Amino acid sequence: MQLLFLGAPGAGKGTQCKMLAKEKGLCHLSSGDLLREAVKQGTEAGIKAKGYMDQGNLVPDEVLIAMFEEKLSQPELKKGFILDGFPRNLDQAASLDELLEKLNSKLTSVINLETGNEILEERITGRRVCPNKECNSVFHTKFAPPQKEGVCDNCQTELVHRSDDKPEVVKKRLSVYAEQTEPLIKYYKDKGLVVTIDGEADPKEVFQSLLNTLNSTCVK
Ligand code: AMP
Repeated sequence: MQLLFLGAPGAGKGTQCKMLAKEKGLCHLSSGDLLREAVKQGTEAGIKAKGYMDQGNLVPDEVLIAMFEEKLSQPELKKGFILDGFPRNLDQAASLDELLEKLNSKLTSVINLETGNEILEERITGRRVCPNKECNSVFHTKFAPPQKEGVCDNCQTELVHRSDDKPEVVKKRLSVYAEQTEPLIKYYKDKGLVVTIDGEADPKEVFQSLLNTLNSTCVK
């Protein structure tokens, strides 16, 4: 199964992708997590990406394309994968098509996680994430608080408030999504790949409807 998730920042892509990857034994490739790790490690890509990320803008396509070219060629991806956050504009989508064709692979489905704008901002600004790259768990001060304030339930690492989850940057990220990423819904609808899931419910309910949909569409 080769899946791609679309959805605005705060729609719950990261949470759903992690649960689905675990349930189905798929590799989860999150562009945001990969970029944040590159920034932390101070790699060339990370140094290039940081300023764009801090302002809520998209990082230049070539950085992402090189990153995903390398990731998608890894042998463990043969068991299936979930793309989360890449592609994010039409040029990246065209590059992904080329990359997958070269690898003799293709997307099985594109999941469009749909959430109204009103709740996105509240979800993002209250989000707290675990910076441990082996964990990357996500919490929310109101909707999913950790047992001990500020500490990851799963690995006890101190949680962080992403600098781009602050209100002034969130508005920019939402407008970038509407302008550059939303057109991908039509791009993939034209290919007959889009399945829309209501992302507004509790994460567990969203996950159940995701599983039901994947099972009923017999995606292998
Ligand atoms: P995310 O965690 O998916 O919200 O991504 C965090 C930030 O990383 C975004 O606001 C962008 O600055 C950058 N980013 C993630 N994925 C991409 C992409 N496919 N293209 C360009 N920039 C990206």
